[in-house]
Amino acid sequence: MYEAFLTKIKNDFSNYRFIDGEKFAFRPPKTIVLGPEEPFYELLTLHEISHAILKHKDFRTDAERLKMENAAWDKARELADEYGVEISEMIIQRELDTYRDWLHKKSRCPVCGLTRFQTPDGKYHCPRCENFVIEA
Ligand SMILES: [Zn+2]
Ligand SMILES: [Zn+2]
Repeated sequence: MYEAFLTKIKNDFSNYRFIDGEKFAFRPPKTIVLGPEEPFYELLTLHEISHAILKHKDFRTDAERLKMENAAWDKARELADEYGVEISEMIIQRELDTYRDWLHKKSRCPVCGLTRFQTPDGKYHCPRCENFVIEA
């Protein structure tokens, strides 16, 4: 169904490797995992390509992760214009929401329920349970 699109994309981005998988993903540095066919398949593909173009690598904190997702969607909007692919803000927000929910759940302290914070090493700390003091 998306053959013409995929042929063009694989040709234009021949420096990346495209493989089929269970869900859309980008594996740094050059592998794009294509998920099953679904509505907005093309947009989701352009999103993963955007991660590759922006050279996204590992992220240390969840805030960085969310920033990367936003940047990749901005780039995907540009590519969608170029390729004449329909942009769905609903799909974009749905995808971003899964990260927001995930982030929200992860940041809750399992002991007291307070929102924890993340230090640059990626570890979570609960201001109440850990009696955390930030040294100047
Ligand atoms: Zn993404
Ligand atoms: Zn706590």
